[in-house]
Amino acid sequence: MKISIARPSCFFLLAGLGAATALAQSAAIPAKDSQPTAAVTPAASLKPLIRTDAPVIALTHVTLFDGTGSAPGHDQTVLLDHGRIAFVGPSADATIPQGAQILDEHGKTVLPGLVGMHEHLFYISAGGGPNHLILGTEQAETAPRLYLAAGVTTARTTGSIEPLADLAIKAAIDAVKQPGPDLDVTGPYLDGNGTFLMQNQVITGPQDARETVDYWSKRGVTSFKAYMFVKPEALKAAIEEAHARSAKITGHLCSVGFSEAAEMGIDNLEHGLLVDTEFNPQKVTGVCPATTPASVQALLALDVHGTQIQGLIHTLVTHHVAVTSTLAIYENFDAEEPPMNTLERTHSSLSTLSWTDFLKLKSLLGKRSRAGEPSTTIQLLHLEMAFEREFARQGGLLLAGCDPTGLGGVVAGYGDQRSMELLIQAGFSPAEAVAIYSSHAAQYLGRQKTIGTVATGMDANLLILDGDFEHDASSIHRPEIVFKNGIGWDSVKLQASVAGLAGQR
Ligand SMILES: [Zn+2]
Repeated sequence: MKISIARPSCFFLLAGLGAATALAQSAAIPAKDSQPTAAVTPAASLKPLIRTDAPVIALTHVTLFDGTGSAPGHDQTVLLDHGRIAFVGPSADATIPQGAQILDEHGKTVLPGLVGMHEHLFYISAGGGPNHLILGTEQAETAPRLYLAAGVTTARTTGSIEPLADLAIKAAIDAVKQPGPDLDVTGPYLDGNGTFLMQNQVITGPQDARETVDYWSKRGVTSFKAYMFVKPEALKAAIEEAHARSAKITGHLCSVGFSEAAEMGIDNLEHGLLVDTEFNPQKVTGVCPATTPASVQALLALDVHGTQIQGLIHTLVTHHVAVTSTLAIYENFDAEEPPMNTLERTHSSLSTLSWTDFLKLKSLLGKRSRAGEPSTTIQLLHLEMAFEREFARQGGLLLAGCDPTGLGGVVAGYGDQRSMELLIQAGFSPAEAVAIYSSHAAQYLGRQKTIGTVATGMDANLLILDGDFEHDASSIHRPEIVFKNGIGWDSVKLQASVAGLAGQR
């Protein structure tokens, strides 16, 4: 059986790769501004998951990354008052009100609540759907808890398989009947003929695109995502209709190249350079080209300082198109990365079926590499990292997210933590990585006045890491308390509350 993953990618990118479909089949497994502010009382059943919901809380003696991208401040105090940040500054200057709960967090790090921009509320079903199609399974119970546990206090769903369920989850989270991030709910994937995810909508033309955007906007959806097989004229209509509804639209595109989409007015592009087909020698207007060894080599031959990529970056920056980094899902297509011994929490969170499924695919990758089949995953990952650095250096708005799809194993929340580490490996400073995951995303969402930074007057969304994030990026995996609108959720208990269930529900 011939298996070849030509390049790493979100599962959904995978389908563009004929080769990846072969992997799925041969393995018989699918490759796989306004916001609620405080003062909503959590449902009684959630109390065991809450570390503190005191009205006034002082976090003292912390190292603080404020989300702006500037260097961290040391020995800082942050005062939370009824769901808002009331003071941020040196501990020596802080006046702590009488009756405030004081948490001495010496040796620990505070970050703004993460704003995850590729945070599906589904996971790929173990075993897949019929006819080698992929079936997503809504993660109504686990995903919101795992995102919040990881410090993600705001999330865009970036492609929904069950928009009505996502909207219901959002309503429950807003009412604090369910723990989870504040959600920017995306409509159904706007796809075209050739779609491989059973739940994607095949948009038949511009009129259908307009009607679909209109229909879901009326039902509370606030973002849209176009997908790989969407036709240019349908995409253009979807962009116009979304903007007429004051909604933003992103895309994981294939039949339309990045520059073409930027010219059409798209707001955001997912995954970065590795999915941009405009440099594929086989590209034909309006058609998603196959990924072949030759097209991968053509991609790898690109130089981020060369005229092609420089031209692309210029187009994106001048059209104000944001790019969402999803490094964790790329890395996952390597046989050895991330190291298995770092996946303890992933193992304990996933259902037995989903974990087994993931191990099977990983071991298949391992067999291939031992058989001497070259893998381009890490080379491509490094190219993507270089592209993202260069895009950001030139003033591009870089966002980031988890994308819990692919081969499996990238789990809601944990994937964000890993992506943060990979951004640092890519050459961003810890403060820049935090900004990508907070203030940049807030700016994209137009919510920079309430979320994305730790500053006086902002919503009390922040997390306390048990460690020194400035010098040890791995401390991102150890949130202790995650505050959302002033309520301090216990990260470990949130994770434990859904142990063994991820992938299932
Ligand atoms: Zn995705």
